[in-house]
Amino acid sequence: MTTRESARHLVVGNWKMHGHHAANEALLEALRTAGPLPCDVAVCPPLPYLAQAAERLARSAISWGSQDCSAHEQGAYTGEVSAGMLAEFGCRYVLVGHSERRALHHESDAVVADKAKAALARGVTPIVCVGETLEEREAGRTDDVVKRQLSAVIHALGHCAGEIVVAYEPVWAIGTGRTATTEQAQAVHALLRAQLQAATAHADGMKILYGGSVKPDNAAALFSQPDVDGGLVGGASLVARDFLAIAAAAAQA
Ligand code: PEP
Repeated sequence: MTTRESARHLVVGNWKMHGHHAANEALLEALRTAGPLPCDVAVCPPLPYLAQAAERLARSAISWGSQDCSAHEQGAYTGEVSAGMLAEFGCRYVLVGHSERRALHHESDAVVADKAKAALARGVTPIVCVGETLEEREAGRTDDVVKRQLSAVIHALGHCAGEIVVAYEPVWAIGTGRTATTEQAQAVHALLRAQLQAATAHADGMKILYGGSVKPDNAAALFSQPDVDGGLVGGASLVARDFLAIAAAAAQA
């Protein structure tokens, strides 16, 4: 356990490849009109709906971001979107290294680090996702895996490493309904904090989010852990009532 002043929590919704224009209108309107929230909140819709989120959330306290970006500035990269383009749409955050991208699109630690670097260069905060598979956890390799994944980003960013957000997302907990225990989450978060402390003087103020089946009924316990600074929320972020309840749980942390 570390001793540090508790900062304002951050709760980020990852909509993944869900939604359509009408459903998004209702969800964004519910978030926009929810009133004061006890933490920072952001949503990451699919790219075609970025403009819709930007328009609906403008002048609200809620930020928006992307679920991915290219490691490249521009060029012949069909289908990709650069961090500069995201910045033009007012994106505050971009997820990099989500386990679905690492697994389904074979993104290496080096590619994830390049994406984080490209995002920071355009003033978009990368939310760097790290996490072990069930097989890796059962083999006792959790610490090695998450440290290796974060190390690649720290190494690539150098003195800018303090500007990222980190999300610990055990792969076995994503979309499965199976959540890490508060002890499991805190143990990995403390490890990541120590790794950041060795790399940057800003580590105590950095946000380390937990992701993996965060729901209204487990959010408060997770967020009350000393090194858990909020959550990255998938499924529950598609239901306004649940997502707002998770954000409200930050008040109890
Ligand atoms: C995620 O997609 O990052 C995630 C944590 O999903 P879920 O909350 O559905 O497990």
